[in-house]
Amino acid sequence: MNREKETLIAKTKAAGVVGAGGAGFPTHVKLNAQVETVIVNGAECEPLLAVDVQLMERQAEELAEALAHVVEALGAEAGVVAVKGKHKAAAARLQEAVAERNKLRLKLLGDYYPAGDEQILVYDVTGRTVPEGGIPLAVDAVVLNVETLLNVGAALRDQPVTHTSITVAGAVREPVTLSVPVGTPIAAALDLAGGPATASYRVIEGGPMTGELMAQEEVEAGRAVCKKTTTGIVVLPADHWLIRQYNVGLDVILQRAQSACCQCRLCTDLCPRYLMGHDIFPHLALNAVNHGHAANTSAITQAYLCSDCGVCELYACPVELSPRRVYRALKEELGKRGLQNPHRRKAKARDGWVGRHIPVAHLITRLGLDEYNIPASWSEVEFSPRQVAIPLKQHVGVPAEPLVKAGHRVEAGQVIAVPPPDKLGAAVHASISGRVQEVTKMEIIIVGE
Ligand code: SF4
Ligand code: SF4
Repeated sequence: MNREKETLIAKTKAAGVVGAGGAGFPTHVKLNAQVETVIVNGAECEPLLAVDVQLMERQAEELAEALAHVVEALGAEAGVVAVKGKHKAAAARLQEAVAERNKLRLKLLGDYYPAGDEQILVYDVTGRTVPEGGIPLAVDAVVLNVETLLNVGAALRDQPVTHTSITVAGAVREPVTLSVPVGTPIAAALDLAGGPATASYRVIEGGPMTGELMAQEEVEAGRAVCKKTTTGIVVLPADHWLIRQYNVGLDVILQRAQSACCQCRLCTDLCPRYLMGHDIFPHLALNAVNHGHAANTSAITQAYLCSDCGVCELYACPVELSPRRVYRALKEELGKRGLQNPHRRKAKARDGWVGRHIPVAHLITRLGLDEYNIPASWSEVEFSPRQVAIPLKQHVGVPAEPLVKAGHRVEAGQVIAVPPPDKLGAAVHASISGRVQEVTKMEIIIVGE
């Protein structure tokens, strides 16, 4: 390994950089690769979120500099920043920044969902299809989220990950994008957006399509916090259609599927992974589940090919069934049985892929979000909460092990937990200066000074 790559990996590891787009995969592991193309995922196709576009517009130069460094260190031939053509200001700033660096270029994407799905992005940029059950590395590419790459750039300047940039959107008084210390209570982030605009509300962490509905009591008690992987917080009235969909239990989903699935196969025809050529047929999975087929049939193990994008559940199905949730349950069941993914075919995008792109504007209408589709303004507020609760596991792998105890004084940026040697994980740093109040199996609580 060349010295530049060694340094890049070591500094990225020391800074605790993980996939900031939600995945949380430790970035130093991802960077230990030799690829032809490094792709920056600036697609931002989740409705209402604006954080990546705003970061690209405001920090185009830093982004290009970090990308150029990664491209050189990995011995790649090209670095591509992928951004939707509709984001004209960000695209213009990026174009200026990449023009000065000979291996970098811009790729303008169409405004569809899910343009930011890693495999679809790779296809859009390189024309290559990731095989079933594979990752972009299989086609000589690595994909980094915008904030992740900015964090890599900061790591090269010996700055660890202490903050996360988030858009707070939906039923809030003033939708806003801002940077908050990791471990900031979600309730405090809502206050920074003027608070919920409705008395009875629920919170989705992440975007409306792939986010996670938070337990309301955790939000209200200040126990739900912003992590390195938090990209957005979407607030909606408790009786909003989307919240009702998120709340439907698996038993009801299965019961409805038995009575209402007409095998129209729209879920399959619009499934982005099916359109990428993978053998995933959600309508057949529902049919198999409805008819009690054995758990190792191909229709069932196809659950491993589902990206959890939500298209089948929240856009395609005319009777509001949820193949996605069925697949999630099947994946859990298959995991318990120790059944590995048997699907490894090489794939070729199916005809009709482009014609079946889902326009984001239509998706927003379908989700009932038109009234909340208000641009979030960027806030320069340097928010420092009174207290942060920093999770020990904000990443793929094992939790980090604490290096501090209750009563210790810590400085912002100080490493406070590390993964065990030789285990997949990421270091965790104090996001504010203060005193450690409590260390639990899950988190380190710091009270600011
Ligand atoms: S779209 Fe809905 S009704 Fe049609 S096959 Fe899929 S789950 Fe069944
Ligand atoms: S969530 Fe649905 S549409 Fe998306 S990949 Fe899975 S089966 Fe396909």
